[in-house]
Amino acid sequence: MNFNVNEKGYYGNFGGAYIPEMLHPNVEELRNHYLEIIHDPAFQAEFQDLLRDYVGRPTPLYLAKRLSEKYNTTIYLKREDLNHTGAHKINNTIGQILVAKRLNKHRIIAETGAGQHGVATATACALMGLECIVYMGEVDMERQKPNVERMRMLGATVVPARSGSKTLKDATNEAIRDWINNPVDTHYIIGSVVGPHPYPDMVARFQSVISEEVKKQLKAKTGSELPTHVIACVGGGSNAAGAFYHFLDHKEVRLIAAEAAGLGVTSGYSAATTVLGKPGIIHGSKTLLMQTEDGQIVEPHSISAGLDYPGIGPIHAHLFETGRAEFMAITDKEAFQSAVLLSRLEGIIPALESAHAISALDHLDLKKEDVVVLNLSGRGDKDLQTYINRKSEFMND
Ligand SMILES: *Cc1c(COP(=O)(O)O)cnc(C)c1O
Repeated sequence: MNFNVNEKGYYGNFGGAYIPEMLHPNVEELRNHYLEIIHDPAFQAEFQDLLRDYVGRPTPLYLAKRLSEKYNTTIYLKREDLNHTGAHKINNTIGQILVAKRLNKHRIIAETGAGQHGVATATACALMGLECIVYMGEVDMERQKPNVERMRMLGATVVPARSGSKTLKDATNEAIRDWINNPVDTHYIIGSVVGPHPYPDMVARFQSVISEEVKKQLKAKTGSELPTHVIACVGGGSNAAGAFYHFLDHKEVRLIAAEAAGLGVTSGYSAATTVLGKPGIIHGSKTLLMQTEDGQIVEPHSISAGLDYPGIGPIHAHLFETGRAEFMAITDKEAFQSAVLLSRLEGIIPALESAHAISALDHLDLKKEDVVVLNLSGRGDKDLQTYINRKSEFMND
């Protein structure tokens, strides 16, 4: 079975480029050039230098002894939380900004929900001296004020999306409208393995540095480059795609994807796309999507803003359909408790998104001889207010 994208931009039944005709030239230009650009040795040299000296890669693969003891197995944490800006998203924005430069684009647009991708994009634009416009739902701007201020501090213009529910999907519509109107000088940086082909493949390639490093690091530590399990949380699915990438063809490695169940998959407040979703089109690709009978997008819910997305990238829809990856739905409460657990056992406060991956440990029947790699996608500083506000609800002490 093939888990990589095909010529037409499909992963099995999912993917493609379902875009308005007026966007076709922009997407086509990117599709025609992205592989040639990425494979160029000069591009790779610049990308690798920045990943090392600016982002801080390679990130450590850390043997979490006390966490391992608790689960009576061996658990390594891949420390994406130690990247510059505190999560894996910067791997992708640095990659795409270098692509944009080579396509002679000097204006960058992006859309953001929680603001994390907006910050990572604004960071990359400041680094390269490019103009940066970030579309964000008006409601999200109110909810995520610190990230709005971070983007402004970095020199970006944050434009409120005032239509519809004033959240992520409305910001996405605005970004697409902008790109249609500015096809020549503008590159649209998408923040996960979503969007029309070639975005899902391009983003997965940039994030694949995660599993590339894991293989080398695990080999040095254990003598084998293959773990028994790789666990990652899935919003759109970019950190999971990066953590799975170089293990996709090693069938003996179990790939575990943790989705956000919110208040529970049947509660009406959930973001568990593989449980609740049906095939549909979102953000320019065919994938699994939470939708009403007549195909309108259902508002998702998760305690973690980064997992609060009604779809998943087409690669994950394919991994789900083929059974290559196992999907688990983790509730807000489970994730919260796992965040506290990791903080107290290892002195690492994780992002709420990453905490969903930690909760997956409770649902796996792990053995002493197993070797688990858990992708710790981000750090928890951004979630401190949520940890303070919700503590009495979720914890006994
Ligand atoms: C944005 C984010 C996610 C979710 O995005 P993916 O594309 O699914 O990786 C997960 N963890 C953190 C820390 C994030 O900031």
